[in-house]
Amino acid sequence: MRLRNIPGARDAIQESPWTVKEPQSFRGQWRALFEERAAALRAQDPAAAPALPAADTAARKPLHLEIGTGKGRFIMELAALHPDVLYVGIEKYSSVLLRCLEKQDELQLPNLLFIRGDAELITEYFAENEIDRIYLNFSDPWPKARHARRRLPSREFLARYDRILTPDGRIEFKTDNRGLFDFAVEETEESVFRIAEITYDLHRDPAMNEGNIMTEYEKKFSQLGNKICKYILVRRPDRERGGTD
Ligand code: SAM
Repeated sequence: MRLRNIPGARDAIQESPWTVKEPQSFRGQWRALFEERAAALRAQDPAAAPALPAADTAARKPLHLEIGTGKGRFIMELAALHPDVLYVGIEKYSSVLLRCLEKQDELQLPNLLFIRGDAELITEYFAENEIDRIYLNFSDPWPKARHARRRLPSREFLARYDRILTPDGRIEFKTDNRGLFDFAVEETEESVFRIAEITYDLHRDPAMNEGNIMTEYEKKFSQLGNKICKYILVRRPDRERGGTD
């Protein structure tokens, strides 16, 4: 998703309290950062910023990432539904992220922060074992073979996810692009992950569709009649951390 350049988008992102400006400096410290932000919000307006649990329990809260948030419908709905989970959305383009921030200004979800950045740097943003779950939704297909490394479910990216996910961590990927999905399934063979669950028609799979939250692209493409594919990856018991990168 690449919206037209919106003048002032970069400045608005710089000024937003919901974006983390130097994500590298919070590597390994994300839970503490959430707690600090929530305390500051509570001090300003207790009604607008419901309390996160005390720091000792906050330290063990799950931390979930969505890479390529687009306009943010998915991660905002999740964050509103699960106040005990901490969410970080990563989006490459300022003009797209601006839409998320406009909504977040209204919703003020204390368990949700954003990074304007490139997922290629994800291991600089997050430490080993820091992340419990990664969501990839309708990732860009990069159709040319020479760009395969840029695809978010590629073996190169899976190796990066391996470095930040907890041992029980998982990756959830949805797309209507069958070519990209077939590629993603093949790439798992070259990784430390295995497919725990898979469907080629999510909306007609009652078990996998339970609790499904539609993304902007999912809504648009399923309305056109496209089937949505989804897999959930977990670590293989027989493979050690540290795949190809
Ligand atoms: N996830 C949304 C949805 O399902 O509606 C948006 C899908 S859109 C096709 C893909 C999004 O991923 C775009 O907003 C794009 O800017 C973002 N993106 C692509 N590559 C990225 C990367 N390497 N790091 C961060 N964001 C990325």
